[in-house]
Amino acid sequence: MNHKQLYIETFGCQMNVNDSERIVTMLSDLGYRVTTEAAGADMILLNTCSVRGGAEEKVYKRLANLRPLKKARQSLIMGVGGCVAQQEGEALLQKFPWLDLVFGTHNLHLLADMVRGAENGERRCETSFIDNEQRLDLFPPVKGTSRLSSFVTVMQGCDNFCSYCIVPYVRGREISRRSADILAEVRELADSGVQEVVLLGQNVNSYGLKAEGEPSFARLIRQVAAIDGIRRIRFTTSHPKDMSDDLIACFGDVPKLCGQIHLPVQSGSDAVLKRMNRGYTRAGYLERIRALKAVRPGIAITGDMIVGFPGESEADFQQTVSLVEEVRYSDLFFFVYSPRPGTKAADLAEELTRDQKVQRLERLLDVQKRITREIGDSFLGTVQPVLVEGEGKRPGQVSGRMDSGRIVNFIGEPGLIGSFVDIRIVRAYQNSLLGELHNH
Ligand code: SF4
Repeated sequence: MNHKQLYIETFGCQMNVNDSERIVTMLSDLGYRVTTEAAGADMILLNTCSVRGGAEEKVYKRLANLRPLKKARQSLIMGVGGCVAQQEGEALLQKFPWLDLVFGTHNLHLLADMVRGAENGERRCETSFIDNEQRLDLFPPVKGTSRLSSFVTVMQGCDNFCSYCIVPYVRGREISRRSADILAEVRELADSGVQEVVLLGQNVNSYGLKAEGEPSFARLIRQVAAIDGIRRIRFTTSHPKDMSDDLIACFGDVPKLCGQIHLPVQSGSDAVLKRMNRGYTRAGYLERIRALKAVRPGIAITGDMIVGFPGESEADFQQTVSLVEEVRYSDLFFFVYSPRPGTKAADLAEELTRDQKVQRLERLLDVQKRITREIGDSFLGTVQPVLVEGEGKRPGQVSGRMDSGRIVNFIGEPGLIGSFVDIRIVRAYQNSLLGELHNH
């Protein structure tokens, strides 16, 4: 059978990466195989993100760039999925006459049928939200993965409505997958050689809170940990208001749960957190951080920070800087505030110019770079268990991640891929470490 070529480009978060894996699995049943070249592909799909300003323009520019390929070959199928598709819908088909398919965040399950139609020249847009039990059956499994680490979506959507965020409008209401389906998927992955799972959700630690009969997220982690073959568990993205004592306790007594957590704070100022509708205070956040560090000394904490939110004064910003100093994140993702259409914050007046926001971001970046380096240096001379995941940065090297998630490169045979090895850390760079095999 002549396989058709699928070129897929994924923007944004791990949820989109996982959705793209689902798309690849679904379309492989229609005879499509992934290609890394857009030119020559039979189908081109963009799986998009709309979390920050300029997201739409980026997709529009990409579609304009791809137009000549469609002109050259009318049978080429072009589609847009993900959050920009959900946000713009039918308007995309009008704006881009060479586009064939638009599919929303709740409509992946319709994609195979949409592609069959497009192969007969049909153009189609599907962006309806499915906010009920039916959605629980719309998580087609990811198959044919040959990796050691795999994403597993456990919940989708968000009910928090942070005032700056577009996610609740493009991903819909929170829904927790059935734990039986999740555990079955993890067992299948373990049987296929996966040793690490990353549990995914926009608000992963609110798993089960609104799902009758389902376990809490802490309980789910313990159930995943009981599955043979799974040696490491990570999860993302958490919300501070759902960081329960039970979940924190897991970091103390579930050895398979890695010592790493992504806990976005967004600002260090209570006044800004209030206007963001984040649902916690600076003190409340720091109390959770202290509790995490108490049960798991050395836990790697990463976070997200928005600078330049409407009304952020210099004093508010200083609160953010001092919080970063106090938490000592192993890494921090920074964003300059940009208004998103339809969000509450989009109506708030802005005093700061783009340049002023960027200056604040650069000041915060300097602080964080120093902390990241200091934490990297603290590993020098220590011996760390590393799951070897693939080739390293340089010839003759392989690489993997420590329990904390930090990447380590070291001289080693490709035969080590898939195994845990002890590595002595000999050098620290800004974003990775250099090591050597220890007692191997
Ligand atoms: S918790 Fe807030 S920032 Fe996160 S996805 Fe939900 S609304 Fe957006």
